[in-house]
Amino acid sequence: MREEAKGRRNPDFYTRNVWFTDKDDNQALSLRYTGEVFHDVQSPYQRVKILESYKYGKMLALDDMVMTTEKDEFHYHEMISHPAMFTHGNVKNVLVIGGGDGGTVRQILRHEGVEKVTMVEIDGEVIEACKKHLPNIAASFDDPKLELIVGDGIAFAANAKAESYDLILVDGSDPVGPAEGLFSVEFFNNCAKALKPGGILLTQGESPKFNEKAFAELHHTLADIFGKDHTYTSLFFVPTYPTGMWSFQWGVKGDANPKKITNDDEIEAFVEKQGLRYYNADVHRGSFATPGFVKDLLK
Ligand code: SAM
Repeated sequence: MREEAKGRRNPDFYTRNVWFTDKDDNQALSLRYTGEVFHDVQSPYQRVKILESYKYGKMLALDDMVMTTEKDEFHYHEMISHPAMFTHGNVKNVLVIGGGDGGTVRQILRHEGVEKVTMVEIDGEVIEACKKHLPNIAASFDDPKLELIVGDGIAFAANAKAESYDLILVDGSDPVGPAEGLFSVEFFNNCAKALKPGGILLTQGESPKFNEKAFAELHHTLADIFGKDHTYTSLFFVPTYPTGMWSFQWGVKGDANPKKITNDDEIEAFVEKQGLRYYNADVHRGSFATPGFVKDLLK
């Protein structure tokens, strides 16, 4: 600990100097936490942990990768759902693959026009842990519009009826373990088939500064399937993911263009009514502003 920092810390800083680290081969993100582990189970798919960080509250980690926290979950869950909902404009039937913490379906179900959400999560352990320890995120599992299936999203997509969904959200973890297949060409081809004409697919897109290879490959996979002019990358800030810069990658089956929204009034009224704290019309547009180094990766 740097000597000069000592004078600035509140007294309990030194009592619990325990750090949780999410890392890849070359970089990491660490969060100081209370040292208490509320849930720690090895499921058939992954290590499911619930900890409490000092700055971001309770958090879900899968195989020691930060998935979501009480204090910044809204960054990710607002940005995986609302930009696509307002781009499409008439979403009725949604498929969510992954999303075991419930944050994505919670945001989608805020939209009154949605008639049905099917959520396919491979690990029931994640759902139970989040219901118990992250109830504000896992708040919509009892919604009558939700069909919750504990199963493999890859197999589900392979057997899905063609042209069934207006929106497919792939809210998966990093391309390891059970989520590895959620990055495959075959999986996205099956998702594209299951999309209605005019439908939109969004997938957790990795980061242009963390796992760049997966980020670029995802974009090229979607461009091969949907066409370069119908694939988009939205960027957003999430402090508890390594590097903080993260993305969603889009495939659009039709002419809807997320960069050309004109329904600002509708968006702002929704933001106001729902008390959103990340998404708004300006953030929607800004999320498609692509820095040169990101454009280079997407070439
Ligand atoms: N929503 C979180 C957030 O705010 O960043 C992160 C993603 S969520 C926790 C990732 C989920 O994908 C996990 O619950 C994991 O079990 C699930 N998953 C991984 N592979 C899957 C598969 N093949 N089919 C369905 N769900 C899968």
